[in-house]
Amino acid sequence: MSLDDHAEELASDLGVDTQEVKRKLEKMAEYNVPMSEAKQSVRRDYGDEGGGTSVPTKNVAEITTDDSNVGVTGRVLSVGKRSIQYSGERSVIFEGELADESDRISYTAWEDFGLGPGETVQIGNAGVREWEGDPELNLGESTDIERVAESLSVPYEVGGEASLAELEPGDRGVAVEVSVRECEQKTIDGRDGETEILSGVLADETTRLPFTDWQPRPQVEEGTPVRIENAYIREFRGAPSVNISEFSTVTPLEEPVAVAESAPRYEVREAVESGGLFDVELAGNVVGVRDGSGLIERCPECGRVVQSGQCRAHGAVEAEDDLRVKAILDDGTGTVTVVLDEERTAEIYGGGIDAAREHARDAMDREVVADDIREELVGRAFRVRGALSVDDFGATLNATTFEADGADPVERATQLLEEAEA
Ligand SMILES: [Zn+2]
Repeated sequence: MSLDDHAEELASDLGVDTQEVKRKLEKMAEYNVPMSEAKQSVRRDYGDEGGGTSVPTKNVAEITTDDSNVGVTGRVLSVGKRSIQYSGERSVIFEGELADESDRISYTAWEDFGLGPGETVQIGNAGVREWEGDPELNLGESTDIERVAESLSVPYEVGGEASLAELEPGDRGVAVEVSVRECEQKTIDGRDGETEILSGVLADETTRLPFTDWQPRPQVEEGTPVRIENAYIREFRGAPSVNISEFSTVTPLEEPVAVAESAPRYEVREAVESGGLFDVELAGNVVGVRDGSGLIERCPECGRVVQSGQCRAHGAVEAEDDLRVKAILDDGTGTVTVVLDEERTAEIYGGGIDAAREHARDAMDREVVADDIREELVGRAFRVRGALSVDDFGATLNATTFEADGADPVERATQLLEEAEA
């Protein structure tokens, strides 16, 4: 039975306008509300209780994905405002968490109930849907909300305050105090044509994370400490990414924000199993240097590596020389491909692009550059820090630092002992 059929049947049953019912069902289908629940909800909108089942009142810990509708009293922990694309139109929704003494739960409000962090509210008839395995409250047309004067005491922090290390994809209404470490303006092809955005890296004393500011603002500037409110978190290459939207606020801070100087150390296997880490330190032996290392050629249009002057996307191009290393690092638990950029490659090779070109010309073979690098790296131990991404082709770490490891065996042994004790 199609959605149209359901709408027609339900509308005639209730004696109301079919198009209106159809719109309501479509809106819920868009967010994966099961048809049976959607129909029940529409019935309630028209004052038909569909058999007179009343909405049970529960505490947060009692709400499960088996519930279709509940009444609950809780304290609003966070409120995030976000605009979404729905049936070709933009609409604004509110998302966050609320809690009582028993537990906390996510909610999405499809209408503006004017919720504010810290408020205690009595919610009548919230829909329940499953979101990544957990129940989530849906507040919409059939929901009524009353403010409760007496504030509920809850064992959770109000206001969405978090450190970067605590953030997870899906978090909303988040507030962080961070230092902007890197920031660049980019032009992307958005849904409204070409759009300017800012992207870069944020840091606090727990870790570093990438960010996107969808509405470039001057306060977001390299080297500036800022407080960001009402951000939401998405997954980017397996790691959380902070999204600053048109509804977020960014306020410069007077005091500097302390930042983590080192990245957490992982074993290779552990890091790869995590699915991606934005800032991680690995250590191991380089067991090989892959083809496509050394003096390579890139397409000037898209930056892809080209072979014999042919780009996969742009055909015959005037290729530009570049230096790169793709080294295989092995720590006994697994392997990753470590990618070094021009600057880091030049350090290892002992010369820049011009030197590499001359070397290749003299030898009449570009491979001599990769051969030198191979000799320099293979069989030696290195410590590497950077962003790890994992896909079907394996794990790749884009290095921000790459250093010889274990220069002093005594120091290394002491460090290992300390780590084992910790
Ligand atoms: Zn190209």
